[in-house]
Amino acid sequence: MIPGVFDYKRPATLADALSALKSGGDDGLLLAGGHSLVPMMKLRLAQPSVVIDLSGVPELRGIKAGKGGIVIGAMTSQHEIIASAELARACPILAATAKQIADPQVRYCGTIGGNAANGDPGNDMPAVLMALNAVYVLHGGGGERKVAAREYYQGAYFTARESDEILTAIHIPTPADGHGFAYEKQKRKIGDYATAAAAVVLSFSGGKIGDAAVALTNLADTPLLVEDAAKHLNGSDGGDDAIDKAVEACRAVCNPAHDQRGPADFRVYVAGILVARAIRSAIQAAKK
Ligand code: FAD
Repeated sequence: MIPGVFDYKRPATLADALSALKSGGDDGLLLAGGHSLVPMMKLRLAQPSVVIDLSGVPELRGIKAGKGGIVIGAMTSQHEIIASAELARACPILAATAKQIADPQVRYCGTIGGNAANGDPGNDMPAVLMALNAVYVLHGGGGERKVAAREYYQGAYFTARESDEILTAIHIPTPADGHGFAYEKQKRKIGDYATAAAAVVLSFSGGKIGDAAVALTNLADTPLLVEDAAKHLNGSDGGDDAIDKAVEACRAVCNPAHDQRGPADFRVYVAGILVARAIRSAIQAAKK
């Protein structure tokens, strides 16, 4: 299939991008890396009258990481995240996750902003960003506002973003020194979306887990932050009993589709295995 007819705009500033989006009304769509949008346009599942390409807006790119927090421009590519020495030091789960997205060709173009903004439950970054308690910075007609990643996802492709808003940056609180992390993903083959995946971030203090966060990908219409799983881990020494309870808490909230990646009960079963694996890897990676 080829896409329908559309106008193409490539603004050079955020202000111009916002005004192009506003004048496109509900039929204007933003183009970032194009690796989700263009396939949707080819299938005619998206039929924008105008496509606003954000690749000419330099203020949407870049990574800053320090003790005070991490700021990643929405147009930063998944490849740039993998290559960032700053992120490798401050928040290594981002590169660990980006490496599990698709293949190098997709990662050179695909952006963290497109991956996070889209609302596709199969995208890998949203669960990780929820686990990290990231905040999305949105600019629109009403100015700037911030929405927690944990409150952004409302349903498959339904998010808290208004149609006149652009996700400009992602703010992430710098995880504690010595934190442990893991993103465990089961997929049918390289380049595939997750059958199930689990993100875990945690720290140790006095031999006990604290600040645990567990989030899941592609196991419901939205990414899932499983607070009950974190409750079982926090205050424990990370033994089998706490892990088993966290796994059960995760399985209890999964509601995946029965699709080409397998029956729903199989995917829930796999989710539990990945949660246990991610918790154990995070515990192993953490400084105790
Ligand atoms: P685009 O495709 O350009 O945009 C996606 C959507 O987000 C559009 O609706 C667009 O309007 C909107 N958007 C983009 N940027 C912004 C912004 N700044 N503000 C507001 N809205 C915006 N992803 C995974 O996570 N895991 C995978 O395993 C995976 N496998 C893939 C395999 C293949 C073969 C392909 C083609 C893609 C795969 N992807 C996967 C998707 C890929 O990571 C996409 O690149 C990504 O999800 C979207 O980012 P993008 O920059 O390409 O956004």
